[in-house]
Amino acid sequence: MESAGLPGKRFTRKIEDFTCEVCGTAVHGTGYTDHCPKCLSSKHVDVMPGDRKNKCGGIMKPVSVEYRNGSYVIYYVCGKCREKKRMSASSSDNKDSLERFIGGG
Ligand SMILES: [Zn+2]
Ligand SMILES: [Zn+2]
Repeated sequence: MESAGLPGKRFTRKIEDFTCEVCGTAVHGTGYTDHCPKCLSSKHVDVMPGDRKNKCGGIMKPVSVEYRNGSYVIYYVCGKCREKKRMSASSSDNKDSLERFIGGG
């Protein structure tokens, strides 16, 4: 619950809505959303998941997907600094997009 105009607003866990910079999909944040459910692209903003402490800000591109233990794991490479990351897919992710990357990379 947000109260407008409250002075000294405290820092709380951010539930962010964002627009995917790759495909333009409007993504409704849940507080855990870290990638686009449609094209699976992400942004290099975290050092540890959710901390938003990384200054890179590059687009993390999905390069490969693995299906293990009943869930998808997406492998990313940052288009800017080339760092590699791994993230769990969320249940709202587009299955076709996920399957397209299976075995890829
Ligand atoms: Zn997208
Ligand atoms: Zn990066």
